[in-house]
Order: sequence, then C-alpha cells, then structure tokens
Amino acid sequence: MIEYEHIAKSFVGKTVLQDVSFTVNKGELFVLVGPSGSGKTTLLKMFNRLVVPDDGNVYFNHKKIKDYDLQDLRLHTGYVLQDSSLFPNLNIEDNIGIQLEQQGMDRKQRHEIARQLLTKVDLDESYAKRMPNELSGGEQQRVGIVRALAAQPGVILMDESFSALDPVVRKQLQDLVLKIHHATATTILFVTHDMREALRMGDKIAVLKDGVLQQVGAPNDIILHPANAFVKNFFKGHG
Ligand code: ATP
Repeated sequence: MIEYEHIAKSFVGKTVLQDVSFTVNKGELFVLVGPSGSGKTTLLKMFNRLVVPDDGNVYFNHKKIKDYDLQDLRLHTGYVLQDSSLFPNLNIEDNIGIQLEQQGMDRKQRHEIARQLLTKVDLDESYAKRMPNELSGGEQQRVGIVRALAAQPGVILMDESFSALDPVVRKQLQDLVLKIHHATATTILFVTHDMREALRMGDKIAVLKDGVLQQVGAPNDIILHPANAFVKNFFKGHG
C-alpha cells in the first residue's frame, strides 16, 4: 500500500503541490491525471526519491519512503518513462537484466528470464541479441516495460509511457499493461495528461489541477459524480 500524506512542494518559490493526500491500494492501477504542469511527475518522482517533498510524507507498506535504503528502493521499483531509456550500448537481454545483475543474479539466469519475459510482450527470442536502435519506438517501450517487470518490483511507476507512440501502438501497449497488471497484480502508479487513457487504464484516478487534488475515484464515479466544474469539463465527452 502507498500513502501520500499532506504533500507540499515548491520549486524556486513557486508552489507546485499543495496538501496532496491519497492512498493507493496494493495491486491497484492508480492514474494521476491533469493538465501539463499540474504536478503529476513531481508526485511520481517522490516515490523513488528523485524529488523530496517540502512537507508531508510518502509511505510504502506503512514505512516512510525516506527511511528505505535508496538503492534497495530503486532496485524494487520499476520505472517506465516516455522514451524507453534503454542503454544504447547494451543488447536487449542485457538491458532487461540490468536490475537482476545489480541484485547479483548470474548472466545465464538473467538471459533466461529476459527471453521468457520478451515472449510475454509478443517479442520473440530473436530480439534478445538486438541493440535498442534496431527496434521501433513501440518495441523499445515493450522492452522498457519488461525491464521494469524483471526484478519483480513491488511498484511500477509509469510516466507518460505511451505519449510518444501512434494511436494504434499506444492502444496495444495499454492493453499489454492491463494484461500484465491483471496477471501479476503489480501496483502501478501511472501518469498521463490524456483523460481517455486515464479512464481506460485506471482502477482509480486522481485528478490534479495546479498542484491541488480535485478528486480521487473509480472512473465511473468521476464521470457520474464529478467533484467540481473543472473535473466535469476535463472529462467532458470522454465518458
Ligand atoms: P506534464 O504533463 O507537462 O509532464 P506534470 O503535471 O507532470 O506536467 P510536473 O512535471 O510535476 O507537472 O511539474 C509541475 C510544475 O513544477 C511545473 O510548473 C514545472 O515547471 C515545475 N517543476 C518541475 N520540476 C522542477 C524543477 N526541478 N525545478 C523547477 N521547477 C520544476
């Protein structure tokens, strides 16, 4: 379980988050949605301590994030960004195995896990020895997702992971993440500015505007009972 409790953050005197509190249950796909600059990425980065709150605390399994060993926290947190951020000089199986290597797993075992995982995202074994620049953007994102899954993380953070992809590939990857989410019950914190994506993916959605949380609820709740005019307008035409 993840808890954000009374989170506040300013950058160079500008308030970007104000008293944000919400809870993500274990196994939930929890979407943070809102316009550009509303503070979604800043919240996400507080989980793996790329950003530290000025006020408030983030908890994971009832322990403060700031009290976790940083390396341990990051080794057990998957992180998928807008571009897949694969290491360009490592082939696909070595990219996938990077966290496993840091955990001390031997090469043969890492490669075996990489190949098994590739098939789960519909990439056959022939991809294992390829270099990242030999893959399409969508294929690279698939590998990025596999890499996040490899270390069997407690939580996966996804930040606009599909924004750069064309609509067809984007939908395929949304389906893929939903399938993995349902099969593994991994907790996923998912950032998007796209309300359709939020409604399609989220078990629960948190809507942000200018660093203030507007509403948290299941997609249906938010569509049927928007908390205010902003939420209503944000989702207008997408219910
Ligand atoms: P987007 O959808 O465009 O990615 P977002 O909702 O994820 O936006 P954040 O990236 O969290 O928004 O940024 C919130 C605000 O904080 C923005 O005004 C941004 O310019 C500012 N900000 C974020 N990081 C920093 C930083 N390191 N230094 C200064 N300002 C920052």
